[in-house]
Amino acid sequence: MDLITHLVKDKKFSGVGRRAPVMNPATGRQIREVVLGDQTVVDAAVGDAVESGREWAKKTPIFRARVMLRYSELIRKNIGSLAKVVSEEHGKTIPDAQGSITRGIEVVEFASGFPSLAKGEYSPQVGTGVNSFNFRQPLGVCAGITPFNFPAMVPLWMMPVALVCGNAFILKPSEKDPSCSRKLVELAHEAGVPEATVQMINGDKEVVDGLLTHTCIDAVSFVGSSPVAQYIFNEGSKNGKRVQALGGAKNHLVVMPDSDVATVVDALIGSAFGSAGERCMAISVAVCVGDDTADRTVKRLVEKAGKLTVGPGSDLNSDFGPVNNEGLYKKILDYIDIGVDEGADLIMDGRSINIPGFESGYFIGATVFDNVSENMKIYQEEIFGPVLSVVRVQTYEEAIDLLNKHPLGNGASIFTGDGGVAQHFVENCQAGMVGVNIPIPVPVAYHSFGGWKGSLFGGFAMHGPEGIRFYTKLKTASVSWGKTSLKGPEFKLPTYT
Ligand code: NAD
Repeated sequence: MDLITHLVKDKKFSGVGRRAPVMNPATGRQIREVVLGDQTVVDAAVGDAVESGREWAKKTPIFRARVMLRYSELIRKNIGSLAKVVSEEHGKTIPDAQGSITRGIEVVEFASGFPSLAKGEYSPQVGTGVNSFNFRQPLGVCAGITPFNFPAMVPLWMMPVALVCGNAFILKPSEKDPSCSRKLVELAHEAGVPEATVQMINGDKEVVDGLLTHTCIDAVSFVGSSPVAQYIFNEGSKNGKRVQALGGAKNHLVVMPDSDVATVVDALIGSAFGSAGERCMAISVAVCVGDDTADRTVKRLVEKAGKLTVGPGSDLNSDFGPVNNEGLYKKILDYIDIGVDEGADLIMDGRSINIPGFESGYFIGATVFDNVSENMKIYQEEIFGPVLSVVRVQTYEEAIDLLNKHPLGNGASIFTGDGGVAQHFVENCQAGMVGVNIPIPVPVAYHSFGGWKGSLFGGFAMHGPEGIRFYTKLKTASVSWGKTSLKGPEFKLPTYT
């Protein structure tokens, strides 16, 4: 059985650590084994990264940008095999995996524009003979800890931006589907990033804690569930690191009475059930304004969702695949039981799905609850599966109040033809990423990705301008090139004329 080792410069550490199984969620069978690192591996990798990172930071921005251009081409060339391994270990369909890798490539392309993105500001004559300018410098060694649901895209939100800014980077991908992340680090080496400047350590909490407490790690990027995001933010900050920690989601889509039901239902189906609901930008709550809107939406939703094909990600006929792991599978089934006990109407039940030949896979069909209310656990908590809750309200004001009260605020969307309502929603909803007649408003690479409230700790979003700011620190210089104008010691705070 293939062993997924670490990618650290000092080869004697590449196989050091406990082992864990890597499963194929469509069959429920183990396909690989992953080595889980420990403090020894972290110390070795960070030690090498510090030295190597210093040399990498001395390269010109255009040199690093060219490496990124080569990197984007290499990922594109390998997209077929990368998507296959994502589908095999994660469970999502191959076209979905390809889409997510393409989104990742776009971040690499964005990073290759670093020389112009990093240009500073210059002010001549801030005082007589004094000029002032600012510029940004790398932080040093950065670590990235990533979730199972996007083993290519999320590492690519971090790695190319950190590297092009002149940092060394250590990736700790999810132990559930590490093969694609490992291949991406190998491709970065092939593109020209030195082996010690970008490394990968597999592992779980032990490696994460090793990174969070290591004195030579300057910044930590995290994407995953909210409780772990909060832990990473608290521990990393306590240890003096710059931290961006993106957490979970419960994204609402508001259906206004004037919206076209057919369009809304297509949007809901794709965004709630695509990738088996395992996207942080999935829609998990449809807020229908008015009972008539709700009745029409629910009727069509059940008709259309009943025709979806659930099957292995490798089958091109599958609309979505299994959920990623047994723990999550059981958790989702528990949430469905809880919803029934809480009194929500289970109008579509995906629990008893049977896929011939894949009886041990972690498959759950599209599931819809109607008449969900605010106090229910299935409304309050992230389920992270193909489960959609329909909440009925009577007015737009009730709809926006509802979503603004939710503790998570990753994305939010509204479907309406009324420009005034849409504008009010964009300006007043408490979420970091907003869509108008767009169900999954994922920002493109040259904008930044990040939520509000319990969906993001640390203030910095990922990639785009926020990514460049996160991975660099600002320096401002005030310079008098000629003879100094000082006439002797000055004891008041200097002011320029
Ligand atoms: P997770 O929080 O369980 O794990 C994420 C990473 O943290 C993994 O690398 C894991 O090994 C590590 N980890 C897990 N438990 C830990 C602990 N106790 N201490 C230290 N490290 C720990 O998340 P997941 O199940 O892999 O991914 C799904 C979650 O990620 C969902 O909540 C989803 O909404 C979220 N997510 C958020 C975004 C976003 O941009 N906001 C994007 C993708 C996924």
